[in-house]
Amino acid sequence: MKKLICLLLTLAMMLGCACAFGEAAEAPAENLFTPGTYTAEEQGIFAPVKVTITVSENAITGVLIDATGETPELGGLAAGKLSASIMEAQTPNVDALSGATVTSNAIIKAATAALEAAGADIDVLDANRKDQGETGPKEEKTIDTEIVIIGAGGAGMSAAIMVHQAGKKFVLLEKMPYAGGNTTKATGGMNAAETHYQKEQGIEDSTALFAADTMKGGHALNDPELVATLANRSAEAIDWLDTIGASLPKISYSGGASVNRIHAPEDGSGVGGYLVDRFSAKLDELGVQIMFNTAATELLTDAEGKICGVKAEGEDSNYTINCKAVILATGGFGANEDMYTQYRPDLKGTVTTNAPGATGDGIVMAQALGADLVDIEQIQLHPTVEQTTSMLITESVRGDGAILVNQSGVRFTNELLTRDAVSAAELEQEGQYAWIIFDQNLRDHLKATEKYVKSGITVQADTIEGLAELLAIDPATLAKTLEDWNGYVKNQRDPDFGRTTGMDADLTTPPYYAIKIAPGIHHTMGGVKINTAAQVINTEGQAIPGLFAAGEVTGGVHGGNRLGGNAVADIVIFGRIAAESALEYIK
Ligand code: ADP
Repeated sequence: MKKLICLLLTLAMMLGCACAFGEAAEAPAENLFTPGTYTAEEQGIFAPVKVTITVSENAITGVLIDATGETPELGGLAAGKLSASIMEAQTPNVDALSGATVTSNAIIKAATAALEAAGADIDVLDANRKDQGETGPKEEKTIDTEIVIIGAGGAGMSAAIMVHQAGKKFVLLEKMPYAGGNTTKATGGMNAAETHYQKEQGIEDSTALFAADTMKGGHALNDPELVATLANRSAEAIDWLDTIGASLPKISYSGGASVNRIHAPEDGSGVGGYLVDRFSAKLDELGVQIMFNTAATELLTDAEGKICGVKAEGEDSNYTINCKAVILATGGFGANEDMYTQYRPDLKGTVTTNAPGATGDGIVMAQALGADLVDIEQIQLHPTVEQTTSMLITESVRGDGAILVNQSGVRFTNELLTRDAVSAAELEQEGQYAWIIFDQNLRDHLKATEKYVKSGITVQADTIEGLAELLAIDPATLAKTLEDWNGYVKNQRDPDFGRTTGMDADLTTPPYYAIKIAPGIHHTMGGVKINTAAQVINTEGQAIPGLFAAGEVTGGVHGGNRLGGNAVADIVIFGRIAAESALEYIK
């Protein structure tokens, strides 16, 4: 794992800041700070964040942020960005980095404490803030290329590698300061049938069975042609991943599959982070520069309705990018509450596990050109999301033996039903939440639990009764629930809810742990309508010339319920198809 120590102690810069500050028109009568170096810590998501600030009499001259314990992508980015912002603004009250709010807020609080220790009055620093200067109008730039790929998640990066390999000119836009989107969050693997890995491991499977499982899992709402394409092109996508250094050789079982079909990295790492790392490395090797912090805002068409360009907004410039084809790979809209409540008013106020860039921009841009939408109201909830941090408690915790109890201390469902069923059961409980309960034995065997404990979202006690008291549950009731459950594990029979899996270990090893959870928005299954060539289809049933789409921005592949392993299959397979079709179109 990358270390995230961000050391931005830029003495030369400081001198500049110090001068500018000293020359301010309303020079303070008294010094702002007692010169020296001050340190303060605040809890981030997983670990304390440490901020060390150096001040002269009237200027912040150095900001050093250690966010080593935070999430690799966002913690490091927040440290870098906020360090620069605090230096520029000369106050700790700077904007949080979108998507890293908890870490950002910890940094801001620690910086405030350090500056107060230096004798600063934060109100005075705010009043004198230095980052409010006039910014001139953005530069207008024009770029000419052949294909524009919008979004650097799994689908966009797959497409970009393909287009580069075909030797065509393209631009890859990403509105966030980093690549990966929701893809980074995928933990399982990629479903694929008739792969060389399955054959080598003696697993009999067929593309027809893969397609049938996917239709069944999606309550047959899926588009059967898209599903057949997903299945038929899955083995070659696995071969292609081999060729770009992103092999997925480890095969196991995943819910809804008739045979072992989910392909994962050899080392057991989460598939999303692994693929994003490998795709990014490949793009680096190919010399592809992703245009970060640049959001596509509009698709342009010529008089005949053919795609001819994209408008985009960067930090310092606005762009008109002339092109012949566009691949939309902007992901879903699970981070856009206005949008998901527009289609699902019942989900108002539901937290999201989604990456901050999942705001549905591609859907809105395509709709402006008449694109049709399918299954747009089909939104998958994940049943175990901690609500204050939006942290997803992986299914493996229940799979390894955890139970769910309500505030009355009793179980209310088979904890391993499908995500939609468990979520619905939780929403029927008082307060619409539940507690997930596990023990030390489970913690010892499941690495994922470490981050829950470290981030402070767990409540723990040496006895069940003690845990119950901390949760304000009747101790005798919770003790009885656990006693019954441990008996069911012993007999391998759950007479209450018929649970048959995740019963290998009982919950008898103290200390005991609980996390308060409720459903969270996980995956938006609907989106723009595409055909099997990844062409975007308009409301008249016609392909929009030059417009292609792949991944979570599209609808139809997953129907009413997405099977684990099919999101990654979708982005790689349709990302590749969108690239092939766009290349064919621009010929
Ligand atoms: P998929 O799984 O379909 O590839 P992801 O969520 O992984 O979807 O990736 C989608 C990416 O698109 C994210 O990195 C997101 O920030 C980016 N994105 C979303 N909207 C825009 C936009 N308007 N311009 C540029 N990038 C965008």
